[in-house]
Amino acid sequence: MDFKKLTVFFKENGVPAFRLKQVQDAIYKNFAVSWDEIPVLPAPLREKLKPELRINSLDTLETQVSKRGNAIKFCFELKDGLKIETVLLNLIPEKWSICISTQVGCPVRCPFCATGKKGLKRNLSPDEITDQFLAAASFLKKTRNHKIASVIFMGMGEPFYNYEAVGEAIHAMTDPARIGLGQRHVSVSTAGHVPAIRRFAKDFPQCNLAVSLHAADDTLRTDLVPLNRTYPLSQLAKALTDYIVMTKRKVFVEYVLMDGINNSRSSAAKLNSWLRAVAAPKYFTINLITYNRTGGPYRAPAKDRVSVFAGILEDCGFEVTIRKSLGDDIDGACGQLAGK
Ligand code: SF4
Repeated sequence: MDFKKLTVFFKENGVPAFRLKQVQDAIYKNFAVSWDEIPVLPAPLREKLKPELRINSLDTLETQVSKRGNAIKFCFELKDGLKIETVLLNLIPEKWSICISTQVGCPVRCPFCATGKKGLKRNLSPDEITDQFLAAASFLKKTRNHKIASVIFMGMGEPFYNYEAVGEAIHAMTDPARIGLGQRHVSVSTAGHVPAIRRFAKDFPQCNLAVSLHAADDTLRTDLVPLNRTYPLSQLAKALTDYIVMTKRKVFVEYVLMDGINNSRSSAAKLNSWLRAVAAPKYFTINLITYNRTGGPYRAPAKDRVSVFAGILEDCGFEVTIRKSLGDDIDGACGQLAGK
């Protein structure tokens, strides 16, 4: 919602200022997505507002629910006709996490990722980012009376290539007068944008940082995450050390396991050494994600090989989780978002 425009509209039409707060509460606290869902406003005012201002900038083209009901994928159309996807994940009963997109496509072009194959179309605006949360929250409220408990910026795009807009969206989500989530319930996942990691430590020291690592040697990582050419592992290591010193927070390390590519014992050993050079194991949680099909040459490793990889890292003293793959049947799992 463009509140600047709404303020001007109210002034020009002699609408009392307290109505602004009513609209703000209806949108951010009750997740209204249309003027008709704000009955506290007089009906003639709602009718006047309809052609002037949209509450939510996104049109929902499709909502897909996974077979097990624990993942919901939205395809949204933006005002210029481009499409993005957003996923709700239900990891804990009645508590949902939302995976938010920050760009249309992605400039990083990781070859195992459906988003990366599209390249970058454009950055999303702060409203387009926040409106994903609000549209999904409205859907959950109406269909299940559930709430969104946490946000991760890990959908389409590299959030730190759209830092300002992501920052504004985080403010909207964590401001008590607006959505009011705790900063600790907000996570941003980067492919390793070194300068932005340091900036994020200063701007949002209570939010969580996740780094999509996928390999701990430069040759392989440059193949898997081409941003590594700009910010190689040595630079990323220094930035993460600085981040940990500045925030005293843990870093979440995302590692997509691809069979025969990055899941060998020596890959695990390299990961152990690289992380230890950054900080002590207690400063990391390693999230292992089994590769989800995106039509490329990669394959998911067998379950026992995932367990072996996890076991090696656990024996080295790291906290390791094997991420449940939710939403793969609706192409809503990690790496599968393409805005089709
Ligand atoms: S994995 Fe992330 S950084 Fe890489 S192309 Fe996909 S969206 Fe971009």
